[in-house]
Amino acid sequence: MSEIVDKFFEISKRNYKEIVFIATVSATVLLSNPNRETSYLETDKIQNTWIDAKKNNLITNNNYIDSSKKDIILCFDDCLELEKWRSSLELSDRLSSITKKPAHFSYYINSASVTKKPLGHSNNSIVKIPGTVDVRITLIQEAIDKGDDIGSHTVRHKHGRRWNENRWTADLKEFDNTIANDFHYNGKPYKSVGFRAPYLEYNNSLYEPLKKFGYLYDASHPGDLLKEENGLTLIGVPMYRMPNGKSILGMDYNWEKAKISDATLEQMLNTELSEVFSDKNKIKYHNTTVPSAMIISLHFRDWKIGQKTYFEVVSKFLTTLAKTQQYNFISMKEYVEIINKK
Ligand SMILES: [Zn+2]
Repeated sequence: MSEIVDKFFEISKRNYKEIVFIATVSATVLLSNPNRETSYLETDKIQNTWIDAKKNNLITNNNYIDSSKKDIILCFDDCLELEKWRSSLELSDRLSSITKKPAHFSYYINSASVTKKPLGHSNNSIVKIPGTVDVRITLIQEAIDKGDDIGSHTVRHKHGRRWNENRWTADLKEFDNTIANDFHYNGKPYKSVGFRAPYLEYNNSLYEPLKKFGYLYDASHPGDLLKEENGLTLIGVPMYRMPNGKSILGMDYNWEKAKISDATLEQMLNTELSEVFSDKNKIKYHNTTVPSAMIISLHFRDWKIGQKTYFEVVSKFLTTLAKTQQYNFISMKEYVEIINKK
């Protein structure tokens, strides 16, 4: 408890009294009623605070994104292994040094992996390895400082297919409180605006809570999808094409299950690239045509069938694209901001 109080004190020194008050109330409710998901305070004040926090975290000046170039989005789920934090940060630095522009990725994290106190069961066992939390927090802050998008992958990586609105609300609130406590951006507590459900398991009860807590987008949908629904942008994990013509989700977990080799993946990435950016591929959104983007989804855990890991294949693919000077490497958040301005 004293650790939590210390943290809040640190924040209050930076004049975030409202957040401190709300976080303290929420933490008190959490601590006194750990098993009651419906006991959270529901007030307009709490929601407005998160919406304000969202505004502080949006990138208002994204002029560095060249609209004449094509957009590539690399996302990571789970984001536990410290080594992969380092190598993904190195990859974005490498792309950025080639293109002479910022290169940003999207990371969907479980807040249990950045919480020092035990938070009960988590499906990600690595969370419990002592000594990793502080380093992970430092690395994630480094990512935030350079403009990466840190989205919610829930608190504990559980199956949400049957969750009701109260359960989603409780999870988002707990996630947002932890993130605001641990991370900052432009001198303000960090606010995530993107969401991806663990196992891509979601239901319609997710959307009202996402909106209420100032989220901009949900990227949990298996398959090609881009649409606006009730003020939220819904983005799919797109389908890629295998050399035999069959479709497969553009995500490393599925490639490993289908025994996709490193050489085959290289081929699939190139096929996806030419299909996404072909003249025939017009993306409709809000009754207008918006730029298409190639989306690649990886986990931090390394998978490989053949010589190279999928991360190595994707790194090489992106580095080759960077050298052509025809691509932007942007986060999902930046993409959503671009298409919503259209
Ligand atoms: Zn996951």
